[in-house]
Amino acid sequence: MTHATISWISESVLRARTHRPFRMNETALVGHQRLLGEVVRINGDEVVIQVYEDTSGLRPGDPVSGTGSELSVRLGPGLLGNIFDGLLRPLAGQGLHVEPGAHQARSGRKYPFRPSVSIGARLASGTVFGTVHRSDALAQRCLVPPDCEGEVVEISAAGAYPEDHPVCVLRRETGETCKIAMQHYWPVRQPRPIAEHLPIEGPLFTGQRVLDSMFPLACGGRAAMPGGFGTGKTVLQETLAKWCDADVIVYVGCGERGNEMAGVLHEFPTLEDTRRGRPLMERTVIIANTSNMPVAAREASIYTAVTVGEYFRDQGMRVALMADSTSRWAEALREISGRLGELPSEAGYPAYLSSRQADFYERASHVRTLNGEVGSLSIIGAVSPPSADFSEPVTTHTKRYVRCFWALDASRAQARFYPAIHPLQSYSEDVSVLNRFWSEQGNPNWLAQRRRFLTLLEKQARLERMARIVGKDALPPGQQQVLLCAELINEGFLRQSAFSPKDRFCSPARQIQMMHIISRFIDLTEAAVQQRLSVEAINTLPFMRRLRRMGEDIGEGELEKFDELRRVMESGFSELIRSAASDAR
Ligand code: ADP
Repeated sequence: MTHATISWISESVLRARTHRPFRMNETALVGHQRLLGEVVRINGDEVVIQVYEDTSGLRPGDPVSGTGSELSVRLGPGLLGNIFDGLLRPLAGQGLHVEPGAHQARSGRKYPFRPSVSIGARLASGTVFGTVHRSDALAQRCLVPPDCEGEVVEISAAGAYPEDHPVCVLRRETGETCKIAMQHYWPVRQPRPIAEHLPIEGPLFTGQRVLDSMFPLACGGRAAMPGGFGTGKTVLQETLAKWCDADVIVYVGCGERGNEMAGVLHEFPTLEDTRRGRPLMERTVIIANTSNMPVAAREASIYTAVTVGEYFRDQGMRVALMADSTSRWAEALREISGRLGELPSEAGYPAYLSSRQADFYERASHVRTLNGEVGSLSIIGAVSPPSADFSEPVTTHTKRYVRCFWALDASRAQARFYPAIHPLQSYSEDVSVLNRFWSEQGNPNWLAQRRRFLTLLEKQARLERMARIVGKDALPPGQQQVLLCAELINEGFLRQSAFSPKDRFCSPARQIQMMHIISRFIDLTEAAVQQRLSVEAINTLPFMRRLRRMGEDIGEGELEKFDELRRVMESGFSELIRSAASDAR
């Protein structure tokens, strides 16, 4: 049925004269191909619609019909292991192309359903009524959709059914019945309901020392990773996807150039889930929006991704969402705003850029689900500021909403120091809460050790400026000692190759051992310098090379080697002190 007629069109934005009232954010089907669009503005009897598909061929006079509902996505057991566009339309098998009007397509694939309730059970919305055990994906739960509840009057036997087949019927108290399938729809711009928000309990453990030990992210927290081209954003996100202790990974690639996204699409399916020894894709959902896809779909894609993340969180899982890059998403917002003729604000972005970013990051959560379990959604957004300028609007607004800031530094990356996270420009606001985690892991001194490392790195930055002028050797021994210790913190602790078989993942126990041994080294050098030993002599001690390379050399199953290295270090210092004393005599 036609509810409006197109009067004007400019790429992905059109105006239409309406024959019936529309609601803001209502989904509309546009043209004869019924392309998906969304009402973004209403002016009397004219609506402005942004279209999520390629609008070539649309003309004034073409019909528009309203659906009465907001932009929604289909959530179900078919998500894991697949690649979608920004509106959750499958891309697999079609290259990077989606057929016009494909949002209504059904896959027809059947999934093995097993009921977990019987007739007569009373189910509230958000509770579990069955499970799906696919051989090629993580086991999943089927949730009663958030708007449904009642007594089970029909439930299907275990068997294979299409996602949209009604497998359970509930009767509400009013007597109405509600048919439930394994899948349900949810509007992307609305957070899914939960029972309650929970306080931080622990970190999203990543196995990356510079993150876990220096700038940890709380499970259910939000982090930003700003960095220029080539600073290692993609490698870091892939490393996190592979190693962080989340059950499900949602990766959204927004508007990266087509070939970059193609790299991710090619690479992800080949990655192995190191913990389960299975393909990583079995617990991953990829949402891909290259810059050659319609710009409006890119704008929607991060809300789609966060909705998918919440759906798995609501099944009691730990979810990590990576968005790469939120700058391209903001550019989409700017482009659409320009087409709408809105007044531009900073750098041409619309004034609502900040609130849209908040809408995204604030959906990171650690919650009690409606089913009474604990679930979390952690969000990690990559930002690619033009000319690596962190004072541009997307980065500065992002800083307001994240609690962890992992600043990727171009000069570190140029020196091939990876991860190129700059220890003085980065921060985590959850350090004091996460201290409990490290105490439980056996390091009650973590907070103090971390502070000591950061203080040395700060001093190093100042001293290096001075050393460049006067030369390192002209610095007093105390300052040379600071430089030596800071260099060891960088080389022996913060540097960690994503490609090293022994070092690409670092367990809490190994991180603790490494922090202890470096802290002890700092104690010993301080004492040695007080006894007037030369820093140069310390630097030439034979164990120094082993200390700098300990991450590469000592693997997870060999932690006793740290004790041996420590003994060598202690006796090396004792020997140095003895020989200095005998020289003095
Ligand atoms: P960006 O996505 O920021 O443009 P990439 O993630 O593609 O940058 O990284 C560029 C290159 O830097 C990679 O090809 C890789 O050689 C190197 N690199 C980045 N991060 C790491 C890391 N953690 N360990 C080892 N090498 C890295």
